[in-house]
This record gives sequence, structure tokens and C-alpha cells, in this order.
Amino acid sequence: MCQPLLARLRQQQPNLEIDVLAPKWVLPVVERMAEVSGTIESPFDHGDLDLRGRWRLGRLLASKRYERAIVLPNTLKSALAPFFAGIPIRAGYVGESRYGLLNVLHRLDHTNPPPMLERYLALAGAPGEPVPDPLPTRLDPSEENLARALAVLSLPKPSEDQPVAILCPGAEYGSAKRWPAVYYADLALRLKASGFAVWLMGSQSDKPVTEAILQAKPGCAIDLTGKTDLATAIDLISVASVVISNDSGLMHVAAALDRPLVALFGSSSPAHTPPRSTKARVQYLAIECSPCYARECPLGHFRCMRELAPERIFREALAAASPTSACAPPPGGG
Ligand code: SF4
Repeated sequence: MCQPLLARLRQQQPNLEIDVLAPKWVLPVVERMAEVSGTIESPFDHGDLDLRGRWRLGRLLASKRYERAIVLPNTLKSALAPFFAGIPIRAGYVGESRYGLLNVLHRLDHTNPPPMLERYLALAGAPGEPVPDPLPTRLDPSEENLARALAVLSLPKPSEDQPVAILCPGAEYGSAKRWPAVYYADLALRLKASGFAVWLMGSQSDKPVTEAILQAKPGCAIDLTGKTDLATAIDLISVASVVISNDSGLMHVAAALDRPLVALFGSSSPAHTPPRSTKARVQYLAIECSPCYARECPLGHFRCMRELAPERIFREALAAASPTSACAPPPGGG
């Protein structure tokens, strides 16, 4: 979501050095972006105020003499370290009344909020300035780490004879964003019967979902959840012939790697966080209650996802994997 902002900053000042401060688990993604010069690990847990720690981080940032900070989260605490560092230009959205902490304040049009990507991209310009079209951006996978991962995980190198379909059945946000596990199991079996090696990808917290998939259809896929860090997940996804994913971080990774992609939306909206790729096939029924952005289905029927039948997603996956496949740009981006 933030890479077009970084690309725009580089376009404005080609010699600009951009360091990214982010939680440890995000850094592998950032390190695969050509626009980024360096990274700094954020030492804070989610929701952690830790004023003293933020003061110390501010002193560290001060020693690096940054000229400008762009704060992407809207929280008050995320603006503290750049303020303590005395960075002269500190831009971001007003968010939690960050008057003073930030000195270049952007305001969000709550009546017609732009998609996240455009929201971030706007921070490259002055408040109220028109937002340019996003530049094309890509993640650069590591061949070396890919070869190592294939060997360590005992996975055959994907080829034309043995294409790989990667399923990303998790979504940290909640079950309302997750296509049912039994549907994923059905899809995995169909893909396997069509000649694909099927890999299940996700973090350790997605394990219950992949276990449910393998329980529904034993042997339908190889479970890689929890066996890869994010960097390795990126490198493995880079060789997939097709990726089928819920609206999650890995969906955006697959789009940024320009992989053929089937993106499943239910309680969230593809207009808000679309996969930015012409190879993405967005599957969204837009039933009367969606998007509700709930973590769990408040109506209990979960029709937004349950009515996305496995046969349909299988057809889309085969079409996406076909070398002649080309899609229209997704809503709100691409
Ligand atoms: S309320 Fe509607 S959109 Fe929200 S999770 Fe339930 S079925 Fe999906």
C-alpha cells in the first residue's frame, strides 16, 4: 500500500534516501522494494505507548539528521518519535488530533474516503494537492533465498510441467474475511487433479485454517504455514503460476510480484484495498450487506463468501494461470 508513495518521493527527488521505520515482521517486504535505502526496526508492540521508549527512538532518529518524516499510521503515539527527534518536516493525517506533533497536516475527506493507496500517496505532496496516478511498483524477490527455501522445505522447483498454485487462506483481521476452509479444500483438490502442486501459505496464526483444509481433504496440499518467514513467503510466491487469496497482506504481495491472482473479497471492499495488478481477478459478490468491515459475520449467514462457489473460483484460477490471460484493471487501482 505504501510503495507508490515511496516511488513518488523518489520521482520527485531521484537522489533521495528513504529509510523505513516499521515492525520487524514488515521489514522483509520493505527490504524487497528498490526505493528503500535502509530500514529501522520499530521496538514497540501493537498498542504499546511506551513514552520512554519513544523518546529513546526519537534520539536515535535525531542522530541520523532526517530532513522529513512521513507518518502513515493515524495514531498519536506513531507521531511521537519524529517529534522527539526534531525532524523539521513531519507530515501525516490529522488522525488522533496530532496538531503540533505533525506540522504538515493532511485532512481526510470522510464523506468520500479515498482508497488506502491514494491516501498514502497524497502524503508525497502538499495538503489538498491533486493526487497523481500511482507509478508501477514491484517487489524484487531474492533468487538465492528462493533456492535455499526450496531445498530446506524439500519442494521441487516449479516448472511448466509442475506449476504451483499457492492458496493464502488466512486473514488476521477475522473470519469474515476468510473464504471457508472447506471451499479451499475443494479448490485445492481440483487444482491438484489438474496438475498443480498446491501450497498453503500463511503465518503460524493461520495454522488452524490450514489444518481444517487438510482435515476436510487430506493430502490436497502441502502446508507451508508457519514454516516461512515473510521474506521467504515473498520469494516462494514469486514462482507461483497462480495465487488464490483472501483480502490479506499476501494478496498484495502476490499483486506486487505480478503473479496471476484470484482475490476473494467478502466483508471488505475491493474499492478500498484493491490488488494493484492487471493480473488480478477480483471475486466480490457485492451483496446488500457488504462491505460491512466486521471481523465476524454479524448476520450469521456469511453469504458474501459462502455464495462464492469453489467451481467458480477454480475456473477463475485456471483462466488466471493461462499464459494468454489478461484482466481489466481492478476497481480503484491498477
Ligand atoms: S454481514 Fe454480509 S458482508 Fe458482512 S460478513 Fe456477513 S454476509 Fe458478509
